[in-house]
Amino acid sequence: MWIVQSVAKRTRKSGWRGYFLIGCVAILALLLAGTSWFAWRSSVERAAADDRLDQTLGVLHATDQLRTAALQQIRGGRGFLLTGNRSFLTPHLEGVQGSEAALARLADLVAENPTQLSRIEALRTDLAQLGSVIGFIIEDTERGRESDALRVMRNGSDRDAIEAIMRTLDEIESTERSALALRKATALQCAIENEQYQYMLAVIGLLLLSLSILATIHVRKALDREKAARRELKRLATTDPLTSLPNRRAFMDALDRSLSQVEGDPDGKFSLAIFDIDHFKRINDRFGHPAGDEVIKEVGARALAALREDDLVGRIGGEEFGVILPRANLEVARTACERLRGAIAGTPVKHGDTIIPFTASIGIADYQDGDDIDHLMARADAALYEAKTGGRNQVRLAA
Ligand code: GH3
Ligand code: MG
Ligand code: MG
Repeated sequence: MWIVQSVAKRTRKSGWRGYFLIGCVAILALLLAGTSWFAWRSSVERAAADDRLDQTLGVLHATDQLRTAALQQIRGGRGFLLTGNRSFLTPHLEGVQGSEAALARLADLVAENPTQLSRIEALRTDLAQLGSVIGFIIEDTERGRESDALRVMRNGSDRDAIEAIMRTLDEIESTERSALALRKATALQCAIENEQYQYMLAVIGLLLLSLSILATIHVRKALDREKAARRELKRLATTDPLTSLPNRRAFMDALDRSLSQVEGDPDGKFSLAIFDIDHFKRINDRFGHPAGDEVIKEVGARALAALREDDLVGRIGGEEFGVILPRANLEVARTACERLRGAIAGTPVKHGDTIIPFTASIGIADYQDGDDIDHLMARADAALYEAKTGGRNQVRLAA
């Protein structure tokens, strides 16, 4: 029960895809049940036809024996009458016994069919009639009344009896053959239906398989789109749109991770640099806000080009940037930041026809035991302040 409940719960969650899947499974289950039913019905009909064939063969064999035995009775009686030779009485007796045995077997074989049973009764009567006619012939012959016996023979009483027996046997055989033909036709029809069902099952199975493949591709694409959308959302949430650098939040998260990495590691070190464009208000005022944006963008690009690949640059304020320099002590950081300062101050930006010169001041603090984000930022800020008050376009180290 819990399986059904759990599937139902999942299905509700996954919408139409879940219902589609359950639908496919249900259809497949029904089709498979149908396969079993058709195969079972076909095999039952085939077995019934086989049984029928056995019975029909048995009946035909018994009717054949009965024909032979009845004729043998006549031949024995007439042979005795015409030759007076007693050896003819043996085949006559065998004919009588053979007729009784064949009749009993026939009665057994057709026991379930009332029409055939009534014919067996008719046969019994006709055989008794035949027996008594031939009995007369034999008795008259034995007593030397051959002329009486010949009269009985000539008036055809034994022939009438044997013809009635043959007719009844023909009817019995014909009924058996019709029943066999009917059974065979039904079994054949079932086999054809079974085969057609198998074809239909194969086609529907292929169809369901194709639909499942299409649904899987559809789901796969939807998942890929969802994943891409999530990635893009995350990128937008962590990226500064003007410079494409990590924004303040992403930079602070990275700083937090750098702190966690070096905490408890006696050899762990890194430095934090903060740099700010000098007299940026003047740039905005003289050249306009778009020109200021251009400068901010250019500073970001130059910082990326001037620093190492694993140094992380982020835009943490309007025209203020931060740099995490992994494994760098103050000296290493100073060299890198001098290179950065030079790259910024070296070439002015061309905005339209205007040339915009600009510089930046940089403050650096190295990680020290017990530092937290605020403390480290405050020390780097203090160094930056010194660079500003010290004349700008310079690098200062935190105490
Ligand atoms: P200092 O040398 O002391 O840093 O002087 P400053 O003029 O650069 O002073 P401050 O850093 O306080 O000024 C920052 C100015 O940057 C204020 C603001 O109008 C401008 N600003 C902030 N964000 C943007 C931006 O996205 N685009 C542009 N064009 N200007 C911005
Ligand atoms: Mg500034
Ligand atoms: Mg500023």
